[in-house]
Amino acid sequence: MEHAIEHDHRQLGQELDLFHFREEAPGMAFWHPRGLAIVQALEQASRDVCRHQGYEEIRSPQLLRRHVWEASGHWQHFADAMFRVEDQKCDAALKPVSCPGFLLIQKRSLLSYRDLPLRRCELGVVHRDEASGALHGLLRARQFVQDDGHILCEPDQAEEEVLRFARVVPRFYAAFGLGPPKLALSLRPEHRAGDDASWDHAEAVLRGAAERIGGPLALQPGAGAFYGPKLEWSLEDRHGRAWQCGTIQVDLHMPRSFELRYVAASGAREHPIMLHRALYGSLERFFGMLLEHHGRHLPAWLLPMQVAVLPVDAAQSPAAEALRGRLAAAGVRARVDEGESLSKRIALAHERAIPFVIVVGAREVAAGEGALRSVGEPQRSLPVAELAAELARRVARPPLWDDP
Ligand SMILES: [Zn+2]
Repeated sequence: MEHAIEHDHRQLGQELDLFHFREEAPGMAFWHPRGLAIVQALEQASRDVCRHQGYEEIRSPQLLRRHVWEASGHWQHFADAMFRVEDQKCDAALKPVSCPGFLLIQKRSLLSYRDLPLRRCELGVVHRDEASGALHGLLRARQFVQDDGHILCEPDQAEEEVLRFARVVPRFYAAFGLGPPKLALSLRPEHRAGDDASWDHAEAVLRGAAERIGGPLALQPGAGAFYGPKLEWSLEDRHGRAWQCGTIQVDLHMPRSFELRYVAASGAREHPIMLHRALYGSLERFFGMLLEHHGRHLPAWLLPMQVAVLPVDAAQSPAAEALRGRLAAAGVRARVDEGESLSKRIALAHERAIPFVIVVGAREVAAGEGALRSVGEPQRSLPVAELAAELARRVARPPLWDDP
């Protein structure tokens, strides 16, 4: 039976004081402290995976002039979706993608085959001018952060590079309580850049990596981008909706249009294989999806405030403060709430979607304990050291990759 989405992320954004939108900036979120803290946890997860996989982070300008977007093809094919501006009497545009900035950095020096594979990532703020009727909170925004990473490599390194990325994808989504993802391969469209031999190689690279991971692979003939084929991972939320999130694509266009070359072992100057990859795609959209999937109960590791420590009355304040310090030392983000009646403070913690509450009364202080409450669990009194250890375990970020 069809039922309404019970967790509209825009509503939750207001209720939990995470973000809001307003008419002064259609499709561009105003992030409140608690919402931004979650965005930063998403960014940190992306950075940690990139560092683990051997990427170095870069940052490129927001505004680039017309000839850059002509080289990338955006000026010709993406004009309506770009925020075009005049910059010192020159045509320019806010970046809708970060890839050209990456290429302009790499073009500054002639690469050798010894530099490859080369991996760079950017958490770039991008702008795309969607029609106002198409906007939908964080899910369809005009400004968002894109976790675009790029790899330059030799043709015979490409499959290993795709595999390196693909292996991390399911574990990464599992940390957010999502998955397992479904994998699809989008093949050459009718109108495309590059010759057939390049497409044969690019498709074989992606297919080869997908087969080595195993599991079902859906083929999508004609669905590739004009510049190359791609692997796409999609996630299903609790409402049965599919979300395409992760992707890795071979780019047969940009290394040529930006005249990027490297010196091969033979001494010849060749175009490298260029891969684009993203785990989130848009961080905003991923956040919106998490809210609609989990409702008020996001994974605890993402939350800026994980535990509320509530002394029953002022006599237990010192014990509550000591417990907060102990939790902080164990890596748990906790606060002590005092003042209102205990039942009001418990209700407030629930309203703020703080997943754990510890009540500290005279009995708990005498016993060196705290009473732990969480949604869907009976209240339990535990010694303070055990509380800290258990909560540290329950709010820890799950591993984002398999060792090594
Ligand atoms: Zn890119």
